[in-house]
Amino acid sequence: FLKGKSAVITGSTSGIGLSIAKAFAAEGAAVVINGFGDAAAIEQERAGLAALSGAQALYDAADMTKPDQIAAMIVRAHDTLGGPDIIVNNAGIQYVAPVDQFPTEKWDAIIAINLTSAFHMMHAAVPYMREKKWGRIISTASAHSLVASPNKSAYVAAKHGIAGLTKTVALETATAGITVNCISPGYVWTPLVENQIPDTMKARNMTREQVVNDVLLDAQPTKQFVTPEQVAALAVFLCRDEASQITGANLSVDGGWTAA
Ligand code: NAD
Repeated sequence: FLKGKSAVITGSTSGIGLSIAKAFAAEGAAVVINGFGDAAAIEQERAGLAALSGAQALYDAADMTKPDQIAAMIVRAHDTLGGPDIIVNNAGIQYVAPVDQFPTEKWDAIIAINLTSAFHMMHAAVPYMREKKWGRIISTASAHSLVASPNKSAYVAAKHGIAGLTKTVALETATAGITVNCISPGYVWTPLVENQIPDTMKARNMTREQVVNDVLLDAQPTKQFVTPEQVAALAVFLCRDEASQITGANLSVDGGWTAA
């Protein structure tokens, strides 16, 4: 049902973003993938997405800390694919330390990548969506857009920011055929989660097994990780006509975490 539409998904060389790109391509969308990684592996994913959609698939290396590169990616998507009809603000990084030991450059990087890049994406893409009187803006927030955990000051601040940005832009675009929503997953098994295990082990003096069971899955009443495909399926639903009245929402996919 996304044939003829184009989607730009930030941070889509891995994890949740890549799953969303695949789910959109499976519905026929032309996609722009973005993020870092091995060039040959990225090219393989790009070619796979084009084959899956039967439409174009581009890779853009825009660094989410660089506003001019974000704007250029949106212009390139517009000039090459039309639209963009759908943008997904998904790129994100994590760093775990108590606030008094939190390096300032890590704070700045997390705010830039996890929050400010979403502003630059919307700033660049909303005019094109207004022109077509149709658009879907989806951000990957987090359960940490609703609740906090210790040692994640920058991440929790950025994700709460995404929730507020989502509501604000939803109000601004409410009569323009554009919806703006965020999805708030609990723990999803991706490299982002795997990579924070060593730091959490250090910060809390725990074994790997203790971090997985007592920290990660402790918060999740279902005691199961969310899958990237489950998040992607919700992103696809938000693009359907049936979802045209869902805007300004923060949708949890967290195994009951934020119900507790
Ligand atoms: P991931 O590490 O697998 O993917 C992150 C992606 O962002 C990668 O493609 C990476 O290359 C890209 N990226 C990082 N820095 C970038 C930059 N400066 N410019 C452009 N791209 C950059 O992580 P993931 O778990 O798939 O996370 C995706 C999103 O989901 C993030 O916003 C994260 O906060 C959010 N999230 C993840 C979980 C989880 O448990 N994994 C839970 C809730 C929310």
